[in-house]
Amino acid sequence: MSVAQRSPDACPALVLNADFRPLSYFPLSLWSWQDALKAVFLDRVDVVAQYDTSVHSQNFEMRLPSVVSLKTFVKHSRAPAFTRFNVFLRDSFACQYCSSTERDALTFDHVVPRSQGGRTTWENIVAACSACNIRKGGRTPREAKMFPAREPLRPSMYELNERGRAFPPHYLHESWQDFLYWDCELEP
Ligand SMILES: [Zn+2]
Repeated sequence: MSVAQRSPDACPALVLNADFRPLSYFPLSLWSWQDALKAVFLDRVDVVAQYDTSVHSQNFEMRLPSVVSLKTFVKHSRAPAFTRFNVFLRDSFACQYCSSTERDALTFDHVVPRSQGGRTTWENIVAACSACNIRKGGRTPREAKMFPAREPLRPSMYELNERGRAFPPHYLHESWQDFLYWDCELEP
């Protein structure tokens, strides 16, 4: 019985830090097979698991790595960048006023409106659905009687990573599961 091999382009490698935890959860740290092979040849990673798919040239044949681990531990910088994505991730892609998780409708709200001196910072921007954003308009939470579910603060890299764990990726190779689903703190 022949098993159809997946095409190399459908073979991303899960990238683990030197402690065997994913480098990041959301987006999940994945490399293309080209980048993964390059890192193998440069001796920057160890191959932890492989696909059945192999690539070959005249001189060599090699199965594509499905999981690689960095040889050198990468420390996450302490302060995550203030980006749209990271704000949404901090707020778990949910409107901070009505908890809606309809992604298409998600916008940014200045908690204290710009017209009243509110700045564009971690502490003053929250995810809000467009309906809530329009309803709140140029008013403060007190004026609008609309308060964010969580006080907006600058998150740590750790907190963002923790949030990201709640969002499983669409595509999961079986060799990744040990590293994704078993990486949970055990309750004593
Ligand atoms: Zn809302």
